[in-house]
Amino acid sequence: MPELPEVETTRRGIEPHLVNMTVRELIIRRRDLRQAVPQSIQDIEGKIIHSVSRRAKYLIVELEDQHHLIIHLGMSGSLRIIDPATDFRTHDHIAITLSSGQQLRYHDPRRFGIVTHYHGATPLAHSLFSALGPEPLSDDFHPSGLFQSLQNLRRPIKVALMDNAVVVGVGNIYASESLFQAGIRPTTAANEVSRKRISRLVECIKTVLQKSIDQGGTTLRDFLRENGEPGYFRQELLVYERAGLPCQVCRTPICKITQAQRSSYFCAKCQKR
Ligand SMILES: [Zn+2]
Repeated sequence: MPELPEVETTRRGIEPHLVNMTVRELIIRRRDLRQAVPQSIQDIEGKIIHSVSRRAKYLIVELEDQHHLIIHLGMSGSLRIIDPATDFRTHDHIAITLSSGQQLRYHDPRRFGIVTHYHGATPLAHSLFSALGPEPLSDDFHPSGLFQSLQNLRRPIKVALMDNAVVVGVGNIYASESLFQAGIRPTTAANEVSRKRISRLVECIKTVLQKSIDQGGTTLRDFLRENGEPGYFRQELLVYERAGLPCQVCRTPICKITQAQRSSYFCAKCQKR
């Protein structure tokens, strides 16, 4: 599943090919994604693209006259910039032909993604964004804010971190990794983590995500590949999917447990509580 660093890498990969281009043609081969692709999306034809931004794991393509394309990659979505003459693959659902002669294609085998249209000055007013917490890499995500938002939560800290209302874009991999680096056991109740450890955790979340985005930069050229998916680079992980392997700090075998139907990985010695 694309996590925040992969979505940001996608944004950086497609942005230079989209900005200042006009949408020559919009081709929709399937509308039945997680939400039906609305008819009004056709209005983007003939419009110039101004910018590509990101909020949580949503990409927002801003076009002229207040038209916006909102894209979520879901479980298996990906975007590529290719030659329009390239044959459509089975799960290429949407294509946007650009005035540059290139084409943006949305591919999504499980169709759990979203491609929708918003017309208006403030795309963040769309209901998709209404319940979202702060961006982890922005100044809006800080120790006192996180500490405050966890005070009424008795859920395990790992489950709380993956709640988009607490902070957006911290998925399973990055929640496990940052809790390890902060020395916090994923099972600890969210409201029992001390202020000092929350400070450390905020720092670790920012560092882990930023490092992954920086390394994603090396894969940007993959957005131009004719076949296959963008080859996201994954940083070397310290605990995720390392069950039974020695902790890289203390050599204790890494534990794997299930929390809220997701696997959590931790070191029982380095992550005390
Ligand atoms: Zn350890």
